[in-house]
Amino acid sequence: MLKIGAHLSASKGYMAMLNEMAQMGANTFQFFTRNPRGGKAKELNMDDIHSFIKTMPLHGVESVLAHASYTINPCSKDSTIRQFALNTIIDDLNRLSHTPNQFYNIHPGSHVGQGTQIGIQYIADTLNQVLKPDMTTHFLLETMSGKGSEIGSSFHELKEIINRCELGHLIGVCLDTCHVYSAGYDIVNNLDGVLEEFDTILGLNRLKMIHLNDSLLPFNCKNDRHARIGEGTIGADALVRLINHPRLKNLSFILETPNEFDGYKKEIAFFKANSN
Ligand code: FE
Ligand code: FE
Ligand code: ZN
Repeated sequence: MLKIGAHLSASKGYMAMLNEMAQMGANTFQFFTRNPRGGKAKELNMDDIHSFIKTMPLHGVESVLAHASYTINPCSKDSTIRQFALNTIIDDLNRLSHTPNQFYNIHPGSHVGQGTQIGIQYIADTLNQVLKPDMTTHFLLETMSGKGSEIGSSFHELKEIINRCELGHLIGVCLDTCHVYSAGYDIVNNLDGVLEEFDTILGLNRLKMIHLNDSLLPFNCKNDRHARIGEGTIGADALVRLINHPRLKNLSFILETPNEFDGYKKEIAFFKANSN
Protein backbone atom coordinates (compact mmCIF):
# COMPACT_ATOMS: atom_id res chain seq x y z
CA MET A 1 0.00 0.00 0.00
CA LEU A 2 1.13 3.51 -0.82
CA LYS A 3 2.83 5.24 2.11
CA ILE A 4 2.06 8.92 1.81
CA GLY A 5 1.61 11.95 4.02
CA ALA A 6 2.37 15.63 4.36
CA HIS A 7 4.39 18.09 6.38
CA LEU A 8 2.41 18.97 9.53
CA SER A 9 2.80 21.49 12.32
CA ALA A 10 4.29 19.93 15.44
CA SER A 11 3.02 22.65 17.77
CA LYS A 12 0.30 20.49 19.37
CA GLY A 13 2.36 17.32 19.75
CA TYR A 14 2.55 13.84 18.28
CA MET A 15 -1.04 12.71 18.92
CA ALA A 16 -2.41 15.86 17.30
CA MET A 17 -0.27 15.18 14.23
CA LEU A 18 -1.41 11.56 14.14
CA ASN A 19 -5.06 12.67 14.19
CA GLU A 20 -4.52 15.29 11.53
CA MET A 21 -2.71 12.71 9.40
CA ALA A 22 -5.58 10.22 9.75
CA GLN A 23 -8.13 12.88 8.77
CA MET A 24 -6.07 13.56 5.66
CA GLY A 25 -6.27 9.92 4.66
CA ALA A 26 -2.51 9.60 5.13
CA ASN A 27 -0.36 6.99 6.87
CA THR A 28 2.82 8.96 7.53
CA PHE A 29 3.86 12.58 8.11
CA GLN A 30 6.79 14.93 8.54
CA PHE A 31 7.31 17.63 11.15
CA PHE A 32 9.97 20.10 12.22
CA THR A 33 11.86 19.11 15.37
CA ARG A 34 11.67 22.74 16.45
CA ASN A 35 10.71 26.10 15.04
CA PRO A 36 12.16 26.11 11.49
CA ARG A 37 13.97 29.34 12.33
CA GLY A 38 15.91 27.43 14.97
CA GLY A 39 15.85 28.17 18.64
CA LYS A 40 14.76 26.13 21.58
CA ALA A 41 12.67 23.00 21.16
CA LYS A 42 9.50 22.53 23.17
CA GLU A 43 9.62 20.47 26.37
CA LEU A 44 9.03 16.78 25.54
CA ASN A 45 5.66 15.43 26.63
CA MET A 46 6.31 11.79 27.52
CA ASP A 47 2.59 10.91 27.81
CA ASP A 48 2.05 12.21 24.30
CA ILE A 49 5.06 10.23 23.04
CA HIS A 50 3.92 6.99 24.65
CA SER A 51 0.37 7.33 23.29
CA PHE A 52 1.85 8.05 19.88
CA ILE A 53 4.02 4.92 19.88
CA LYS A 54 1.01 2.84 20.94
CA THR A 55 -1.40 4.39 18.43
CA MET A 56 0.87 4.53 15.34
CA PRO A 57 0.28 0.90 14.28
CA LEU A 58 -3.51 1.32 14.58
CA HIS A 59 -3.26 3.93 11.83
CA GLY A 60 -0.96 1.79 9.72
CA VAL A 61 1.96 4.14 10.32
CA GLU A 62 5.33 2.45 9.82
CA SER A 63 7.48 5.50 10.35
CA VAL A 64 7.47 9.28 10.38
CA LEU A 65 10.08 11.83 9.38
CA ALA A 66 11.51 14.51 11.66
CA HIS A 67 13.05 17.40 9.72
CA ALA A 68 15.80 19.52 11.27
CA SER A 69 15.29 23.26 11.15
CA TYR A 70 16.66 24.35 7.79
CA THR A 71 18.48 27.35 9.19
CA ILE A 72 21.19 25.28 10.85
CA ASN A 73 24.39 25.25 8.80
CA PRO A 74 26.93 22.55 9.70
CA CYS A 75 29.42 23.92 7.15
CA SER A 76 29.32 27.64 7.88
CA LYS A 77 32.70 29.37 7.93
CA ASP A 78 31.74 30.76 11.34
CA SER A 79 32.64 28.24 14.03
CA THR A 80 29.86 29.54 16.32
CA ILE A 81 27.28 28.71 13.66
CA ARG A 82 28.81 25.26 13.08
CA GLN A 83 28.78 24.61 16.82
CA PHE A 84 25.12 25.67 17.01
CA ALA A 85 24.29 23.20 14.21
CA LEU A 86 26.14 20.43 16.01
CA ASN A 87 24.40 21.14 19.33
CA THR A 88 21.01 21.32 17.63
CA ILE A 89 21.45 18.00 15.84
CA ILE A 90 22.66 16.30 19.04
CA ASP A 91 19.65 17.68 20.95
CA ASP A 92 17.26 16.61 18.16
CA LEU A 93 18.66 13.07 18.16
CA ASN A 94 18.38 12.88 21.96
CA ARG A 95 14.73 13.88 21.74
CA LEU A 96 14.08 11.44 18.90
CA SER A 97 15.63 8.58 20.86
CA HIS A 98 12.26 8.37 22.68
CA THR A 99 10.58 7.42 19.40
CA PRO A 100 12.96 4.75 18.04
CA ASN A 101 13.08 3.65 14.40
CA GLN A 102 11.90 6.94 12.96
CA PHE A 103 13.75 9.05 10.39
CA TYR A 104 15.64 12.34 10.83
CA ASN A 105 16.49 14.49 7.84
CA ILE A 106 18.90 17.43 7.55
CA HIS A 107 19.96 19.75 4.74
CA PRO A 108 23.74 19.28 4.40
CA GLY A 109 24.40 23.04 4.50
CA SER A 110 25.86 25.92 2.48
CA HIS A 111 29.61 26.49 2.20
CA VAL A 112 29.09 30.27 1.86
CA GLY A 113 32.06 30.84 -0.40
CA GLN A 114 34.65 28.58 1.23
CA GLY A 115 34.31 26.05 -1.57
CA THR A 116 32.65 22.68 -1.82
CA GLN A 117 35.57 20.65 -0.50
CA ILE A 118 35.89 22.58 2.77
CA GLY A 119 32.12 22.53 3.14
CA ILE A 120 31.95 18.79 2.67
CA GLN A 121 34.67 18.30 5.26
CA TYR A 122 32.86 20.46 7.85
CA ILE A 123 29.63 18.50 7.29
CA ALA A 124 31.47 15.20 7.69
CA ASP A 125 33.19 16.54 10.85
CA THR A 126 29.74 17.33 12.27
CA LEU A 127 28.29 13.95 11.30
CA ASN A 128 31.29 12.16 12.80
CA GLN A 129 30.34 13.71 16.13
CA VAL A 130 26.62 12.86 16.01
CA LEU A 131 26.43 9.40 14.43
CA LYS A 132 26.62 6.59 16.99
CA PRO A 133 26.79 2.86 16.23
CA ASP A 134 23.80 2.17 18.50
CA MET A 135 21.58 5.09 17.45
CA THR A 136 17.92 4.16 16.98
CA THR A 137 17.03 6.99 14.59
CA HIS A 138 17.68 6.62 10.85
CA PHE A 139 19.78 9.59 9.74
CA LEU A 140 19.12 11.12 6.30
CA LEU A 141 20.71 13.79 4.11
CA GLU A 142 18.38 15.60 1.70
CA THR A 143 19.15 16.17 -1.97
CA MET A 144 19.33 19.94 -2.51
CA SER A 145 18.58 22.22 -5.47
CA GLY A 146 22.00 23.92 -5.50
CA LYS A 147 20.66 27.33 -4.55
CA GLY A 148 23.49 29.71 -3.63
CA SER A 149 26.34 27.66 -2.20
CA GLU A 150 24.22 24.71 -1.08
CA ILE A 151 26.03 21.40 -0.82
CA GLY A 152 24.25 18.18 -1.72
CA SER A 153 22.74 19.09 -5.08
CA SER A 154 24.65 16.26 -6.74
CA PHE A 155 24.70 12.59 -5.82
CA HIS A 156 28.53 12.79 -5.89
CA GLU A 157 28.61 15.48 -3.18
CA LEU A 158 26.34 13.41 -0.94
CA LYS A 159 28.52 10.36 -1.53
CA GLU A 160 31.63 12.34 -0.67
CA ILE A 161 30.12 13.42 2.66
CA ILE A 162 29.20 9.80 3.38
CA ASN A 163 32.67 8.57 2.39
CA ARG A 164 34.25 10.85 4.96
CA CYS A 165 32.07 9.54 7.80
CA GLU A 166 33.32 6.68 9.92
CA LEU A 167 29.75 5.44 10.31
CA GLY A 168 28.75 6.37 6.76
CA HIS A 169 26.80 3.14 6.40
CA LEU A 170 24.24 4.65 8.84
CA ILE A 171 23.48 7.57 6.50
CA GLY A 172 20.51 7.39 4.15
CA VAL A 173 19.17 9.86 1.60
CA CYS A 174 15.86 11.70 1.29
CA LEU A 175 15.24 12.60 -2.34
CA ASP A 176 13.25 15.80 -2.90
CA THR A 177 11.63 15.73 -6.36
CA CYS A 178 11.56 19.53 -6.64
CA HIS A 179 15.19 19.85 -5.57
CA VAL A 180 16.63 17.15 -7.85
CA TYR A 181 14.72 18.51 -10.84
CA SER A 182 16.06 22.00 -10.09
CA ALA A 183 19.53 20.51 -9.64
CA GLY A 184 19.45 19.05 -13.16
CA TYR A 185 18.24 15.47 -12.69
CA ASP A 186 15.51 14.96 -15.27
CA ILE A 187 12.96 12.88 -13.39
CA VAL A 188 10.32 13.90 -15.96
CA ASN A 189 11.90 12.49 -19.12
CA ASN A 190 14.49 10.12 -17.73
CA LEU A 191 13.48 8.77 -14.31
CA ASP A 192 15.11 5.40 -15.00
CA GLY A 193 18.38 7.11 -15.90
CA VAL A 194 18.33 9.26 -12.75
CA LEU A 195 17.69 6.23 -10.55
CA GLU A 196 20.43 4.32 -12.35
CA GLU A 197 22.83 7.17 -11.61
CA PHE A 198 21.70 7.28 -7.97
CA ASP A 199 22.27 3.56 -7.74
CA THR A 200 25.74 3.72 -9.26
CA ILE A 201 26.94 6.57 -7.06
CA LEU A 202 25.07 6.16 -3.78
CA GLY A 203 23.31 2.80 -3.99
CA LEU A 204 19.52 2.73 -4.10
CA ASN A 205 19.54 0.93 -0.75
CA ARG A 206 20.42 4.33 0.77
CA LEU A 207 17.28 5.94 -0.61
CA LYS A 208 14.83 5.92 2.30
CA MET A 209 12.34 8.75 1.75
CA ILE A 210 10.89 10.91 -1.00
CA HIS A 211 9.77 14.53 -0.66
CA LEU A 212 7.02 14.67 -3.25
CA ASN A 213 6.78 18.19 -4.65
CA ASP A 214 6.15 19.89 -7.95
CA SER A 215 8.46 22.79 -8.85
CA LEU A 216 7.52 26.36 -9.76
CA LEU A 217 10.81 26.88 -11.58
CA PRO A 218 12.28 25.45 -14.79
CA PHE A 219 14.45 22.34 -15.02
CA ASN A 220 18.06 22.76 -13.86
CA CYS A 221 17.48 26.30 -12.51
CA LYS A 222 19.49 25.66 -9.27
CA ASN A 223 16.78 27.23 -7.18
CA ASP A 224 14.10 26.01 -4.82
CA ARG A 225 10.40 26.87 -5.10
CA HIS A 226 7.87 24.14 -4.38
CA ALA A 227 4.58 24.02 -6.30
CA ARG A 228 1.33 22.16 -5.72
CA ILE A 229 1.06 18.86 -7.54
CA GLY A 230 0.19 19.53 -11.17
CA GLU A 231 0.83 23.26 -10.91
CA GLY A 232 4.53 23.15 -11.69
CA THR A 233 7.14 22.20 -14.24
CA ILE A 234 7.38 18.54 -13.16
CA GLY A 235 3.67 17.88 -13.50
CA ALA A 236 1.30 15.33 -12.01
CA ASP A 237 1.95 12.60 -14.61
CA ALA A 238 5.67 12.44 -13.88
CA LEU A 239 5.00 12.30 -10.13
CA VAL A 240 2.44 9.53 -10.58
CA ARG A 241 5.03 7.55 -12.56
CA LEU A 242 7.50 8.18 -9.77
CA ILE A 243 5.33 6.86 -6.92
CA ASN A 244 4.58 3.75 -8.99
CA HIS A 245 8.15 3.10 -10.08
CA PRO A 246 9.07 -0.45 -9.04
CA ARG A 247 12.27 0.77 -7.36
CA LEU A 248 10.48 3.53 -5.40
CA LYS A 249 6.96 2.40 -4.68
CA ASN A 250 7.77 0.88 -1.26
CA LEU A 251 9.27 4.11 0.08
CA SER A 252 7.37 6.79 2.03
CA PHE A 253 6.32 9.94 0.16
CA ILE A 254 5.98 13.26 1.99
CA LEU A 255 4.23 16.25 0.41
CA GLU A 256 5.85 19.63 1.09
CA THR A 257 3.64 21.48 -1.32
CA PRO A 258 2.29 24.96 -0.48
CA ASN A 259 -0.97 23.71 1.01
CA GLU A 260 -3.09 23.71 4.11
CA PHE A 261 -5.14 20.73 5.30
CA ASP A 262 -7.63 20.62 2.39
CA GLY A 263 -4.99 20.92 -0.30
CA TYR A 264 -2.90 18.13 1.22
CA LYS A 265 -5.97 15.93 1.60
CA LYS A 266 -6.77 16.38 -2.09
CA GLU A 267 -3.23 15.59 -3.21
CA ILE A 268 -3.07 12.50 -0.99
CA ALA A 269 -6.38 11.26 -2.43
CA PHE A 270 -5.07 11.91 -5.93
CA PHE A 271 -1.93 9.82 -5.44
CA LYS A 272 -3.83 7.04 -3.67
CA ALA A 273 -6.30 6.89 -6.58
CA ASN A 274 -3.39 6.74 -9.04
CA SER A 275 -1.14 4.21 -7.30
CA ASN A 276 -1.11 0.61 -8.48
FE1 FE B 1 14.04 19.87 3.43
FE1 FE C 1 12.32 18.75 0.90
ZN1 ZN D 1 12.77 22.88 -0.96
